[in-house]
Amino acid sequence: MAKADLHIHTKASDGALEVPELIKKISEKGLKIIAITDHDTIDGYTEAVKFISENNLNLEIISGVELTALWNSMEVHLLAYAFDPENEPFLTLIAKQKMARRKRMKEIVKLLNSKGVDIDYEEIRAVSGKGNMGRPHAASILIKKGYVSSIPEAFIKYLSSDKIEGIKTGYQTIQQMVEIVKQAGGVLSIAHPGPIYSRKELDELLSFGLDGIECIHPSHNFSVQRSYTQIAKTNNLLITGGSDYHGSNKSDYDPYLGTVTISQSHVDSIKRTATNRKRILT
Ligand code: AMP
Ligand code: ZN
Ligand code: FE
Ligand code: FE
Repeated sequence: MAKADLHIHTKASDGALEVPELIKKISEKGLKIIAITDHDTIDGYTEAVKFISENNLNLEIISGVELTALWNSMEVHLLAYAFDPENEPFLTLIAKQKMARRKRMKEIVKLLNSKGVDIDYEEIRAVSGKGNMGRPHAASILIKKGYVSSIPEAFIKYLSSDKIEGIKTGYQTIQQMVEIVKQAGGVLSIAHPGPIYSRKELDELLSFGLDGIECIHPSHNFSVQRSYTQIAKTNNLLITGGSDYHGSNKSDYDPYLGTVTISQSHVDSIKRTATNRKRILT
């Protein structure tokens, strides 16, 4: 059965690779079905669709995005799939998210400045380029300026959710996102629940109307994978998964791309759910 990876980032958000280079790598790894799931943008997906078609590649792509939703004051990652990428309310939603990311980064910069860190918004903008801004872009400046020596260290010292707790974010709420993705005919999965949520929290998140759980993810060991898969099956939810590949322009060591995959049957279930949803909508 064909191997699928439904969690991949490009330079349209905080991935290291541009679409052509990424698709080449993906094909070399033997993947047959993918979703590009950049943070709050579908620019990478749109470009990949065009690239695959222009080059006649034997690679199926379904629409995807990793949305940052607000739940109480927590940021929750939701994966949306198989939505209509031209749906107006959906496009408005991600445009708002883009602005929210910029505003949030300005707040992060203010916070870092108040701690004596010399960093400014425009230099982070220069790293993210046309892509959606995220904390890894700020991390790269902290490395460049010698405040830290690695991205994980940048998160531990300056950028983790604990460190930036209390800053204002204008992200849409989980309820708003579920409503908008569903009216665009898409399905939603809770991203990498791993050790992030308690069982009670997971149940509450699912109760907002999510369709699936990302059971397969590099942060999940086999026992965690098994337990989420069991929860998904018991509750009649979709099973999603992928490598959460962010790429690297420094090395060719990509341990998860092509290995952290799901089978085609799971993608078929996702597509079936989305097709039924679209049928009800029309
Ligand atoms: P943001 O979109 O600004 O909320 O940043 C989230 C992204 O930062 C994630 O998708 C990861 O790519 C990266 N990230 C989050 N936590 C860490 C960490 N502890 N170490 C390295 N990268 C991280
Ligand atoms: Zn990321
Ligand atoms: Fe995520
Ligand atoms: Fe991700």
